[in-house]
Amino acid sequence: MNGFSIAIVLVGSMWLAATVPTAQAAPCLIVTLTGTQSGPSVFNGQAGAGTLVRYGDDSNDCGAMKLQFDTGRGTNMRLSQIDVSPVQLNAIFFTHMHGDHTEGFADIMMLRWYLKGPKIDIVCSSDAASVLGHTNSCRKFVMHVADAFLQSGEIAERRSEDKDRLPGGPADLTNVITFDPKNEPQVVWSSGDAKVSAIRSTHTAGHASYRVDTPAGSVVIGGDAGNDVLAPPRASSTSDQVEKLAKGVDIIVHSAFHPVLGPDRGSGFPPPSFYRQSLATDLGAMAKRVGAKYLMLTHLAPSLGAVVHNRWKVPGGPLTEADYRKAVEASGFTGTTIVGTDLATLRLPAK
Ligand SMILES: [Zn+2]
Repeated sequence: MNGFSIAIVLVGSMWLAATVPTAQAAPCLIVTLTGTQSGPSVFNGQAGAGTLVRYGDDSNDCGAMKLQFDTGRGTNMRLSQIDVSPVQLNAIFFTHMHGDHTEGFADIMMLRWYLKGPKIDIVCSSDAASVLGHTNSCRKFVMHVADAFLQSGEIAERRSEDKDRLPGGPADLTNVITFDPKNEPQVVWSSGDAKVSAIRSTHTAGHASYRVDTPAGSVVIGGDAGNDVLAPPRASSTSDQVEKLAKGVDIIVHSAFHPVLGPDRGSGFPPPSFYRQSLATDLGAMAKRVGAKYLMLTHLAPSLGAVVHNRWKVPGGPLTEADYRKAVEASGFTGTTIVGTDLATLRLPAK
């Protein structure tokens, strides 16, 4: 390029800079763990499993869109600590119907209904028959989430104070979107330039893992996924489907077990419950294979600092963050590992 054309290009871009409005703030994504407790028990005030994904740009603190993945016990309390009201959520996604991922839903929806928030998309797997003979039904869970408050008379009473509140209570506010989880990713929700895909994964019948793609970056929420082969010998405890979903992703958020709860260590933790989850080292190996930059461990079992996890004594004493980090590093993963605590947050791009 000669000097003349460089001058033209420079003049051209200055003209563009002067006329294009500055509204094109840089897109950004924030991932926050709203709860890190593993399983039904309680420990040290930890909230039940959940992840908030916020997406937007610098002009709205990356918060134009707010997507909640799972709503374990206390999710609403954690959201209040980061100034997110249930009214602001655009959609809620469920990985599966275990209480440690769902118990906070009624709390969120009762407040959204009380505040007369808009309808909300609830995205989850369609009814799934278990080999054990029962059916896991997200749709029924959502439709009946506030039945106790209808029965107690509270819904009618608060509605008598304000007729704009819907008569059926929180269930009337929901738009349930179900899908049949498949072995290939499928788009299950989208808005603007953000899309959410899902894939089948093994844990309970109907378990699904999700991926959010935005111009600012991408995140996979694995939930409690484990390998289809339910016990060793197997190549890995992680899910082959989640690995497929996570190819080239920036962040992986995943439930993690530490080997210390394994049957060979004598804690007494039930082997089937142990084997249907992913181990920290195997998660590191998966993150490495797919080229993820960040691995956020959540739903830790055992919990950090717990002498007893649920009702099983932790062999060798309480685990520290370093213990989980060491387990991940044994895989050779060289990205950033976050050993999850409630409200741990990652931003893309990093500030
Ligand atoms: Zn769980």
